[in-house]
Order: sequence, then C-alpha cells, then structure tokens
Amino acid sequence: MRALTLDSSELQAIKAATPLLWLNPRLGDPNAAPAVVNENELHEAEARLSRFAPLLTQLFPELVPSKGLIESPLLPALTLNAKINPVGGQLWLKADHALPVAGSIKARGGIHEVLCFAESLALEHGLLQGVDDDYQALTSPAATALFAQYTVAVGSTGNLGLSIGIIGAALGFKAIVHMSTDAKEWKKSRLRDRGVTVVEHDADYGAAVAAGRASAQADPKAYFVDDENSSKLFMGYAVAALRLQQQLQKQGIQVDAQHPLFVYLPAGVGGAPGGITYGLKQCFGEHVHCFFAEPTQAPCLLLGYASPAGQEPTSVYDFGLQIDTDADGLAVGTAAQWVCDATRDLVSGVYTATDKQLYHKLRLLYETLSIEVEPSAAIACLGPEMLATDSGKRYISQHNLESSLEQANHIAWLTGGSFVPATEHQKYREAYNL
Ligand SMILES: *Cc1c(COP(=O)(O)O)cnc(C)c1O
Repeated sequence: MRALTLDSSELQAIKAATPLLWLNPRLGDPNAAPAVVNENELHEAEARLSRFAPLLTQLFPELVPSKGLIESPLLPALTLNAKINPVGGQLWLKADHALPVAGSIKARGGIHEVLCFAESLALEHGLLQGVDDDYQALTSPAATALFAQYTVAVGSTGNLGLSIGIIGAALGFKAIVHMSTDAKEWKKSRLRDRGVTVVEHDADYGAAVAAGRASAQADPKAYFVDDENSSKLFMGYAVAALRLQQQLQKQGIQVDAQHPLFVYLPAGVGGAPGGITYGLKQCFGEHVHCFFAEPTQAPCLLLGYASPAGQEPTSVYDFGLQIDTDADGLAVGTAAQWVCDATRDLVSGVYTATDKQLYHKLRLLYETLSIEVEPSAAIACLGPEMLATDSGKRYISQHNLESSLEQANHIAWLTGGSFVPATEHQKYREAYNL
C-alpha cells in the first residue's frame, strides 16, 4: 500500500471499521497542494444564483418567500446541545435537510451547475443578450424548445440525481440519472414521477458515475454533471458559506480567536463539504474548524487526505471495506482527487461513525426537535463528542482552544431529509432503540 499519513492505530481502526477521529497534518500548510480553484469563481457563482432568482420563483413557487434564493435557516439547538456536546459552547443546526426544491445540500451545487449550462446555451442562441437581461425569458416557448434538444445527465447515490433531475426537468431538458445500488427506491420513484429517466446500475457510486459519463460522451447534445470533477458544483456549494456568514452576523455570533467556530460536514465524494469548507475558510480563516464525517464503511475522504497530493486517492476497498452503510449520501469508495487537492490544507480532520451511532442521533433529532433527517445527515451530530476523544483533545490543545471552548459555536450541518417518506423515517427511528 502507498505511503499514507496514518499511524498504525488509525490504520487498524479503518480496517476494523471502528470509529476514529483523524487529524489532518497538512492543515494550514500553504505548500500542501497546488492552487486548483480561485476565489473569483465563488463570487461568480453567488452572482449567477442571484441572476436566476426571479426565474426560480417562477419555476418553484415555494421560493417566493425567499425571493428565489435556495437557502435554509440556522437553528439554535439548546436541548440537543445538552445531550450531545461534552466540550462546551453552543450548538446550531444548519437546516439543509429542509432546503427547498431538492430537500438536500445538493440543491445549491446541482442547481448551480445546470443553471450554468442553461445560461451558456441561452447566451449562445441569443435568448439572452447578456447577463443583465431578464432571465425570465428562459421560460419562453423558444427557450423550452431549445433546452428540449439537450440532455442533462448525472451519476448519483440519490440526492444529486434528485437535484439535477428536478431542475433539469423544470427547465425543459431531458434528464437522465444513473443511480448506484445504494440509491433508495423512493428517490428513484420521485424522479420518475417528474419525467426523469432513471438508469439503475447494479454497482457502486463510482461505477454509476463512470457509466453516466461514458453514455453522455457518446451524445453531442448531452451535458454530464461530473460529481468527481466539477468546480461548478463545488462553487455552488461554497456559496452556502457566504450566506452562513450573514446568518451568523444576524444572530450576533462572533467568530474569532475567543469564539472559535466548529463545523461538522457529512462527506460523500467531497464536493459539498469541500466547497463549504473552501467558502468558510475565505470568510473566517483559522477561526473556523471544519471536520468531515463519514461512515466507518466509507472513509474515502479520510483516505484521500491521507494520500499524497496530486495522486488518485486510495480507495476504501483497499482496506477490505464494503461500503456497507445506510447513509446512502455518503456511500462513496474513492474521494474526488481534485476536491482533496483543493481543500488539503483547509480541513481540520475527518471522523468516522457506525450506522448504529448515526441512527442514535437521527432519533434524538426527532425526539428533541421533531426534525426528520436522513441517516447521512445525522452523522453531523457526532461532531462535538469527537472533540472529547484523545485526538479531539490533542486538536484543542495544538490550537490553544482550551480557554475558548465555553464561547465556541458548533454547527452540525444537516444535509438531507425533508423528502424522506414518513414510513421510511419511522423505519430509521426503529433501527435504533434508545
Ligand atoms: C451528497 C450528500 C452529502 C455529501 O456530499 P458530497 O459532495 O458527496 O461529499 C452529504 N449528505 C447528504 C444527505 C448528501 O446527499
């Protein structure tokens, strides 16, 4: 096996699929990775989502109250804090489980990328004269007829497919979603109900993406949203950080040396948590501490960051793991290499958890706050207790955070769930008996 920055007990834990917190030795190292993204793209993504906002209110009436912004609230969680946070400070929930239109964190990134494609087609074909034009022109019969000639395709474990399928179909594109075996039945039927073509693969996420990529390449009028290689997805996700900064300001929450901010982000292939981390680091620098969360059966980002820069990340299969997890949004065997490179010096660490642990948090969220999330999202609530482990304590002391923990803020990023059918959620709750 290649040289990985893992010690023997970490190697052991990964192979045995037991939980651990791995600290990133390259955090803050300016030479950790080549510069693969630039900040302008983040502000362009934000501006693009604003340009499209009036059009989005037309396509999705649920966006009228937010004037076309796809955003979620930041919720205080006092009672839950008392139950899940042994290290002190306040707990907040970033409620992306309730993100309108797509019901998951995939809404911002996936919709942003399809809007990029629609915008470039419309400019090229003269339906928009420039970016200052009225984007509501994109619901005209001429625009719909143009888009109907094109296909947008994606490979997904479920939620990215929902996001791309919903916006693609709403604009009039043909939409094809290649689903991995992990994808839940209800996600597939929700898409079929909207006229999206679902191609089922009896294979993992990486294979579904590869099959989708290959079939889109064979069709000159197909656009493939490449979850393993997309700066447009990444930057769409990153916009969340700029919006979170405003939400924190509104709530009067400071982020500085005396008030560290800890953010816990469920991670699949890396684009969503990577993009958000990139954005948060632009906003708060060293005062924000971003930890990724993965199932013990699919720690692909952990292995990606522990792999050498500029090389393909090590796969979880090399450790004998089988991606056997109910957290379908996180069921990925190999991280996106370019996301690892783009964020190699930004991520504080990665922790892993068993399905049993995340079901426990899923149930607590329901019982204390009536919040229904999918299993992938619940893993974010394990963040504070990871800071109380030996490696967590090491991190706190390395960064001189002991004296500021009482004034710290913790954000558990709830990444998906509002579309989960009630009967499915009940099964999730029953999967863990408190
Ligand atoms: C996709 C997804 C994630 C992780 O995003 P990646 O870009 O794959 O890392 C986390 N939670 C949920 C619910 C998701 O659908």
